[in-house]
Amino acid sequence: MKKPKIVILGAGYGGLMTATRLQKFLGVNEAEITLVNKHDYHYETTWLHEASAGTLHHDKVRYSIEEIIDRSKVKFAQGTVTAINREQKTVTLDNAELHYDYLVVALGGEPETFGIKGLKEFAFSITNINAARQIREHIEYQFATYSNEIEKNDDRLTIIVGGAGFTGIEFLGELSNRVPELCREYDIDNDKVRVICVEAAPTVLPGFDPELVEYAVNQLERKGIEFKIGTAIKECTETGIIVAKDDNVEEIKAGTVVWAAGVRGNSLIEEAGFEAMRGRVKVDSYLRAPGHDDVFIIGDSSLIINEEINRPYPPTAQIAMQQGVTAAKNLSVLVREQGEMETFTPDLKGTVCSLGEDDAIGVVFGKKIWGSKASFMKKMVDNRALFLIGGPSLVLKKGKFNIF
Ligand code: FAD
Ligand code: NAD
Repeated sequence: MKKPKIVILGAGYGGLMTATRLQKFLGVNEAEITLVNKHDYHYETTWLHEASAGTLHHDKVRYSIEEIIDRSKVKFAQGTVTAINREQKTVTLDNAELHYDYLVVALGGEPETFGIKGLKEFAFSITNINAARQIREHIEYQFATYSNEIEKNDDRLTIIVGGAGFTGIEFLGELSNRVPELCREYDIDNDKVRVICVEAAPTVLPGFDPELVEYAVNQLERKGIEFKIGTAIKECTETGIIVAKDDNVEEIKAGTVVWAAGVRGNSLIEEAGFEAMRGRVKVDSYLRAPGHDDVFIIGDSSLIINEEINRPYPPTAQIAMQQGVTAAKNLSVLVREQGEMETFTPDLKGTVCSLGEDDAIGVVFGKKIWGSKASFMKKMVDNRALFLIGGPSLVLKKGKFNIF
């Protein structure tokens, strides 16, 4: 009998979870499963702020995909997806074309720039391993250049972070620890460095618990981070940013601008003709694209509504991984043509936001935590993600044990 072909695009949290669960649920002869990814490694997107600040080496953030998958059941194809052809049921890669009976799109998200002028050209975004390395090296280059130049350009030492959502705040937490180290390494007076966070909303971490937000802002301000709240970035230039607060427009000169103000779905989704909102497809309760019973879309490129508040769930690794499990279960039902597909509802355990290596805030199972307790919890959350995908051996290899 012909084996159905399942193609999984992307080996991030959603895609790798789908692949590792499918290899458990299905036998060798039940389906031909191919996992496609741009690189031969998976990276922990949730740790990229650390690699970007230079507080964690980028090799600690990635691991080999082939070491995780059961190669007797899942074939790995390294390649960049360039198109999804829904009618022909094919996927075009830069180096091959693949046919599918069932497709799982788990290609992650992209920075949302809202069409703001200059961001694509002049700002960095924390998007993948090499982007993180570039941010780290760019900041270090600015410090090294400052240290060596005769006529000092103080603006080199200003770092702007656009957006005080979870990504912006976690990156600021790492920077607050890294900047004093860089100053020591390059003989620079700490007072010369400015790290400024610009947030359009009236508060940091809009929507999060106000008491914890206050704790985070106090901790970061204590370590020298400046906040410009209720201030929107209007333009990014070669020499800095232009911001507006009410009617006041101001230019802030900076050597580094990091845009961390939100994500949209992967652009391949819209290019393929799927109906999408900011690149994200509102999937049905089984995680399939509307009108496409053979296409599952999960992770940052999917959109599901939280019926309680009638707003989309924020895209998170927590949800992407849970969707991976459901997609794998539902694919097994389709392949076997028996059983009932399951509907997807996120099972949210909470949110923990790091403020550097040794501090954090969070709400876990409805309980507020902060300080070293929250920091411990954050590392446990990071280790849990490794465990769910690669079991105890991956935790031992890549886990965070600097907990005391
Ligand atoms: P990803 O995990 O991003 O994986 C996408 C994969 O697709 C990647 O391997 C990529 O290389 C591959 N890919 C992309 N395009 C192509 C292509 N054209 N061809 C081939 N391969 C391609 N969420 C939490 O729940 N908790 C956190 O603590 C948390 N912290 C975060 C910290 C940071 C700094 C950031 C940026 C995000 C954080 N998030 C967190 C959000 C979380 O990382 C994302 O929601 C999650 O990664 C989405 O999973 P995904 O599987 O959709 O995509
Ligand atoms: P976000 O959308 O959560 O936050 C973006 C922030 O940028 C918002 O506060 C917004 O008001 C601000 N902003 C938008 N336009 C602006 C402008 N022109 N000028 C200044 N500020 C502007 O995005 P994110 O922080 O990148 O997070 C993306 C997703 O990843 C979210 O779902 C988040 O929950 C998740 N995430 C989770 C964690 C965690 O759980 N620890 C960490 C990082 C990211």
